[in-house]
Amino acid sequence: MTDTSALISSAYSQALEVIGSVEPRIAEATRQELADQRSSLKLIASENYASPAVLLTMGTWLSDKYAEGTVGHRFYAGCQNVDTVESLAAEHARELFGAPYAYAQPHSGIDANLVAFWSILAHRIEGPALERLSAKNVNELSDEDWETLRREFGNQRLLGMSLDAGGHLTHGFRPNISGKMFHQQQYGTDPGTGLLDYDAVRAKAKEFKPLVLVAGYSAYPRRVNFAKMREIADEVGATLMVDMAHFAGLVAGKVFTGDEDPVPFAHVTTTTTHKSLRGPRGGLVLAQEEYAPSVDRGCPMVLGGPLSHVMAAKAVALAEARQPAFADYAQRIADNAKSLAEGFTSRGATLVTGGTDNHLVLLDVSSFGLTGRQAESALLEAGVVTNRNSVPADPNGAWYTSGIRFGTPALTTRGFGHDEFDRVAELVVDVLEGTEPGTTKAGGPSKASYRLGEGVADRTRAASAEMLDKHPLYPGLELT
Ligand code: PLP
Repeated sequence: MTDTSALISSAYSQALEVIGSVEPRIAEATRQELADQRSSLKLIASENYASPAVLLTMGTWLSDKYAEGTVGHRFYAGCQNVDTVESLAAEHARELFGAPYAYAQPHSGIDANLVAFWSILAHRIEGPALERLSAKNVNELSDEDWETLRREFGNQRLLGMSLDAGGHLTHGFRPNISGKMFHQQQYGTDPGTGLLDYDAVRAKAKEFKPLVLVAGYSAYPRRVNFAKMREIADEVGATLMVDMAHFAGLVAGKVFTGDEDPVPFAHVTTTTTHKSLRGPRGGLVLAQEEYAPSVDRGCPMVLGGPLSHVMAAKAVALAEARQPAFADYAQRIADNAKSLAEGFTSRGATLVTGGTDNHLVLLDVSSFGLTGRQAESALLEAGVVTNRNSVPADPNGAWYTSGIRFGTPALTTRGFGHDEFDRVAELVVDVLEGTEPGTTKAGGPSKASYRLGEGVADRTRAASAEMLDKHPLYPGLELT
């Protein structure tokens, strides 16, 4: 055991003792979570394992400080250390992504997107409206002016990628606030290839003329040409907002460069910090200079008080992502996704778009006679943690779905490479071939219940354990 892992083991063991002296069930659940994560194949594309440095940074008294406002301009006294933390997180983010401006406060990816919407509306609608109404700020508006402003604010258009094509709920999905606060339309993918069709996006944008064009995805297994998306936005006078929550690690690690790097092309870029970027749970907004003042007012206009302990952990994670080793990690994420995809296709499985060139693979499980829900449950029973996901034009809808999404960031952190991901594909296919759809209580076909063949779960767990033991999670960390 290295000195560092001895230190970390002792730090966590003692921390859990302190926690357990107050609420033992929380200490126990925390211990159990480590055991569960260690013993399962984590293939959820949006999850990862943050470093002990990142995790430890979150457990401090920085959590106790209120700091609404922004660096140097807080609504509370005594924020000098929070200023240091937030400035460092923003500085690392600017340097890492080459962004003119970074905002480290969003508590999550959805919050980052809400800040982006707010800032785009404030910059594009409120600013010009105030000028037109000859008011310096909203306090000078008459009731009639307010009515005008509200009408303009509340009647803007947003065009984003549909959920079943791989977009996120916040990209204009009807039931989400983004699909209600904006007049929305969605673009999909080509029904034949499953790939983004830029001409179709352009045609839709020209017809719909959105204020906001959203690019980015949660479940699209391919790269996006952001130069083309910016061209389309410019042609129709839209603000280009890119949500790179899923692939920020690949941007940080310079796997996505040139036209595939969204940051130079987007007016506003949002991300989470906990997926491929491997930081704490949280969000970031990057912006071009002209959007910076409105993003900077995210708290308290949209967000509650900043989580200073999490901003500190973001700074640590971003500092890690600036190390050369992170670029190597990011490249392995993409290489491993290819190995996983080839492992599936070579065994006859069907992938949306036929493969991948990012960190995720979307498997259409209908050829196994299963819904996504059944496949997800059967895989979980066998110790393979994934999530079900819609496929384009999914006949089973967003709840049962027909797809399973797999991502490589987490197991790549554990050191899995080509051979292990090929074996993972083999195990997954074995589980799915060994699963049959179940029936409802009334005896009809069920979209949820399933029957896993005898011995399948045990042999999958045994085969996984061999690989997991060779690539331990948090090597050297032993809880006493
Ligand atoms: N944006 C995208 C593209 C996502 O995939 C997700 C989460 O999965 C989010 C935003 C929301 O992130 P959070 O759960 O941190 O709010």
